[in-house]
Amino acid sequence: MNELLGKKVVVTGGSRGIGAATAIALAERGADVALTYNSSPDAAARVVKEIEALGRTAYALEIDAADAVAVADGVARAADRLGGLDILVNNAGVGAIGPITDFTLDDVDRVLAVNIRGVYAAAQAAVPRMSDGGRLIHLGSCAAGRVTSPGMTLYAMSKSALIGLSKGLARELGSRGITSNVVQPGPIDTDMNPADGPFAAAQIADLALDRFGTTSEVAAAITYLAGPNAAYLTGTELTIDGGHTA
Ligand code: NDP
Repeated sequence: MNELLGKKVVVTGGSRGIGAATAIALAERGADVALTYNSSPDAAARVVKEIEALGRTAYALEIDAADAVAVADGVARAADRLGGLDILVNNAGVGAIGPITDFTLDDVDRVLAVNIRGVYAAAQAAVPRMSDGGRLIHLGSCAAGRVTSPGMTLYAMSKSALIGLSKGLARELGSRGITSNVVQPGPIDTDMNPADGPFAAAQIADLALDRFGTTSEVAAAITYLAGPNAAYLTGTELTIDGGHTA
C-alpha cells in the first residue's frame, strides 16, 4: 500500500466525485497531494482533512480550471509547496448535455476552457517541474470512443481532444520516462451524473454491467496508472465504463 510513498501529486477538481476519491486513494498509498477546487471550499477542506488523517500532506487551492493563467500559476505554486511534482491528475471537468443548437459559442468556449484549455495549461506548467518517471493522467470519457445517444456532441468533442493531447505528451516525454494516459470513465455515480438521475436508466441499458460505477473504482484505475507497475503504459486510453463501448 506504500507504492507511492513521498510522491508529490496535483489533482485538479479534487473537492468532489472522482477527483476527491482519487486524491484520497493516492494519499492512502503514501502520496502528498495538492488539490484544486472551484466552488466547493468546504468539500475541499474535508478531503484535505481526510488526507492529513492518513499522515500525509495536503493543500487545497481555489483555482477556476477555465482560467488557464491561474491553472498554470496554481500548478507552479503547488509544486513549490510540495517540493516537486511526480503526478498530475487532470480531473476537473464539466458536463454539457443537449443538442448542438442549445449551446451558444460562449458555452462552447467555457466547456473547452475547462475540459481542454485548462488541461493543456496544467500540463504545460507541470512538464518542466515534473520528475523523470512522472505521470500525466487525464480524465476523458468513454463518449470519446463511442457516442450512444444524442446530446453529447460538445462533451464528446471536448473529451476526444484529450486523446490527441495525451498521445502528443507521451511522445514528447517518453525519453524522460514520463507517461501520459487518458482514463475514460463510463457512467460513474457522482454529482455530475447521479445513479438516480433522469438519464441513469438509459445509460444502464447501454452497459454490459447493469449498474453505475463508483468513484473508488475509477480511483483504482488512476492509482494503477500512477504506480510503478504502469511504467510501460503510455499514450493510450484506459476505459472503465461497465462495458459501455463493448
Ligand atoms: P463532479 O461534478 O462530481 O465533480 C467535479 C469536480 O471538478 C469537482 O471537484 C469540481 O470542483 C471540479 N471542477 C468543476 N469545474 C471546475 C472548474 N471550473 N475549476 C476547478 N474545478 C472544477 O464530476 P465527476 O467527479 O463526475 O467528474 C470528474 C471527471 O470525470 C470530469 O472530467 C468528468 O468529465 C469525467 N467523467 C465523469 C463521468 C461520470 O459519469 N461521472 C463519466 C465520464 C467522465 P468544485 O466543486 O469546487 O467546483
